Amino acid sequence: MVFVKSIGRAVKALARGPSTLQYPEDRESIADNYRGIHKLDMKTCISCGACARICPNQTITMVDVETEKGTKKMPEVNLERCLFCDLCEEVCPTKCLILSKDYSFEKYDRREYVLRPEDLK
Ligand code: SF4
Ligand code: SF4
Repeated sequence: MVFVKSIGRAVKALARGPSTLQYPEDRESIADNYRGIHKLDMKTCISCGACARICPNQTITMVDVETEKGTKKMPEVNLERCLFCDLCEEVCPTKCLILSKDYSFEKYDRREYVLRPEDLK
């Protein structure tokens, strides 16, 4: 009897199809309020440093970036320290810094979690 039930469950599972995804090609849809990796619009960043000052975990460091108009300070993000609290996005006066829906930040070397402004595009 147990054997028959097991066969029945196996047949139902086969009819349902695969329950796993072929990541990264196939991905689950993400909740609207999900907070992922930062994105920065370098053209509208005014180098005010508000994002770095409000961050509760010293995740953001203002670093020099060469632009057409000379050297500017812009945020560098250490994802290892980030709490994904969204305070940096909320405080940004030009809305050039946002938390995106991108959750794929697997790395082989932990130093790669420090993202320069140019990496946040
Ligand atoms: S999301 Fe929060 S913890 Fe992460 S960088 Fe922004 S303010 Fe800091
Ligand atoms: S990202 Fe926004 S808050 Fe941070 S320095 Fe640029 S303008 Fe200011």
